[in-house]
Amino acid sequence: MPKRIVVLGPPGVGKGTQAKLLSERKRIPTISTGDLLRKSIADGTPLGNTVKEYVESGKLVPDAVITEVVEEWLDSEEAKEGFLLDGFPRTIAQAESLEQILNRQSQKLDCVLYFIAPLDVVKERLFNRAKIEGRSDDTPELIEKRFSVYRQQTEPLVEFYRSRGLLLEVDCTGSIEEVYEKVKSAICS
Ligand code: AMP
Repeated sequence: MPKRIVVLGPPGVGKGTQAKLLSERKRIPTISTGDLLRKSIADGTPLGNTVKEYVESGKLVPDAVITEVVEEWLDSEEAKEGFLLDGFPRTIAQAESLEQILNRQSQKLDCVLYFIAPLDVVKERLFNRAKIEGRSDDTPELIEKRFSVYRQQTEPLVEFYRSRGLLLEVDCTGSIEEVYEKVKSAICS
């Protein structure tokens, strides 16, 4: 069973939901950088104040800011035996920092779960989620913005991890439980 996992994929693909399920059912500690940043903003912490403008305009927060947060968590007792990263890395620079952090810890990633689905399916999911959750970065304009940021800055990670032999593709069409079954067979193959 892999214990050091990254989940990757475009917005709306359901990777956060699957990360939570996997984390609960397989008892792997997880961090969602998006959730953490939204909470920091809601709580008005110094981190929240630094990142507010970026998050609310659909841009990525600076690499150094988010990497410091993730590094601190990876060095904590909680993440010592394994971890699931949801929403990090989002850029090649972040992925390189992650490699350096893990090298320093004499650890390495076991796999990257790459969630794929047709664009119309993920956009539909995002628009529905916007109605249910009322996230401030889920307006139609910001959804488009986050897609374009994903394509430009995050999608290159697919080749980065494929070339390292770490990429496991998961087709995420279907119900939550159906997709979870695919996740399980991908990581146990
Ligand atoms: P998410 O919930 O993962 O879609 O993240 C929501 C927002 O948080 C993103 O649009 C970014 O503004 C910010 N964010 C989350 N993770 C990262 C990251 N690894 N690097 C930069 N910005 C991030």
